[in-house]
Amino acid sequence: MGTMEDLCVTECTRCPKLVESRSRIVNGTGPEDADVLFVGEGPGAREDEQGEPFVGRSGSVLDEQLRTVGLDRETVRITNCVRCRPPENRDPTTEELENCRGYLETEIDRLDPDVIVTLGKVPTEHLLDRSVSVTKEAGSVEEVRIEGTPRRLLICVHPAATLYDRSQEETFADALERAAELADVDGSEGGQTRLDGF
Ligand code: URA
Repeated sequence: MGTMEDLCVTECTRCPKLVESRSRIVNGTGPEDADVLFVGEGPGAREDEQGEPFVGRSGSVLDEQLRTVGLDRETVRITNCVRCRPPENRDPTTEELENCRGYLETEIDRLDPDVIVTLGKVPTEHLLDRSVSVTKEAGSVEEVRIEGTPRRLLICVHPAATLYDRSQEETFADALERAAELADVDGSEGGQTRLDGF
């Protein structure tokens, strides 16, 4: 049996540029038996400072929408494709994504989530291994093999997209509603709690 500790990368120097730009490694957060796994791109400035994914402005958007659909941030798992902040918030390179891939695969394998929700273009293309227009495909669910195991993946826009383009708010809200439904449908033996009255 694995422990929570194995999901926590404490030392890694595979990406020289990221070793330079990071102040710490930002691991996933949330229970290791969560039904929903959110996957973002990589830590930003706030995440790098605090050591937790999605704690900046994008995190506030995500948290608010999680509450709206009755999912509590504490009951879902949130992680990123790369665990170290890229310089000037540039996208992670293909090589950096590959270097970090094993950590993400271990996390997915351990969680065995009902649904993986990819937040934005980078995680969606990384896990589906094809080019994706997330604004066009947000809300669609695909089956994808990750390390040989079929996984259910829900495409979602990045929460920050709603800050730049108000029309993305509904797309984001609808995708999270779908995530809550997917977790609920399979989640009758416990795990996911939906908060009523929010
Ligand atoms: N954006 C991401 O993709 N990940 C984070 O952790 C924060 C912002």
